[in-house]
Amino acid sequence: MGESVHTPTSSFAEELAAIPGGEAVNKCIQCGICTASCAVARYSDEYRPRQLIQKILLGEREEVLKSELPWLCMTCRLCEERCQEGVSPAEVFHAVRILAAREGHVPLAFRQVMAALMRDGWILGDSYTDFEEEDREDLGLETDLGWNNEFLHRLKQYLPLEEDE
Ligand code: SF4
Ligand code: SF4
Repeated sequence: MGESVHTPTSSFAEELAAIPGGEAVNKCIQCGICTASCAVARYSDEYRPRQLIQKILLGEREEVLKSELPWLCMTCRLCEERCQEGVSPAEVFHAVRILAAREGHVPLAFRQVMAALMRDGWILGDSYTDFEEEDREDLGLETDLGWNNEFLHRLKQYLPLEEDE
């Protein structure tokens, strides 16, 4: 018997299979081991890697690209380690996020993180307090955390993203 081919598949699955990391998506047999292994699924009633891959195989392109769920994957790769078919849901969802970002479907929380990064050069600027500034001063450390300005300047040259909310 030759290499097994699982159905269904869809043009959306083919599109993702063309992105590095998404190649094996069509090999998914819907066994559910990824969901059973997933640390995020343990804490979320909605996040189910098997179900997301099922929607991809069924061609639910708009629903998947507009969903926040693929952005919840924390790339721990437990699913990838355990999948017997060589599918990496982590990489498949990475490919989904690439397409979603290209089409303007980045969830608000991630856009806010990017906006903070583009504004401050780091994402914890708002948590920097007077107390920490005094502590740093006492320790003889630099209190002006504009040390990232050069990085920020270069980032803006290559990544001219607009600041968001
Ligand atoms: S473990 Fe692999 S084959 Fe099983 S549902 Fe998840 S991705 Fe599909
Ligand atoms: S890589 Fe993502 S989908 Fe896979 S187990 Fe970790 S959080 Fe779940």
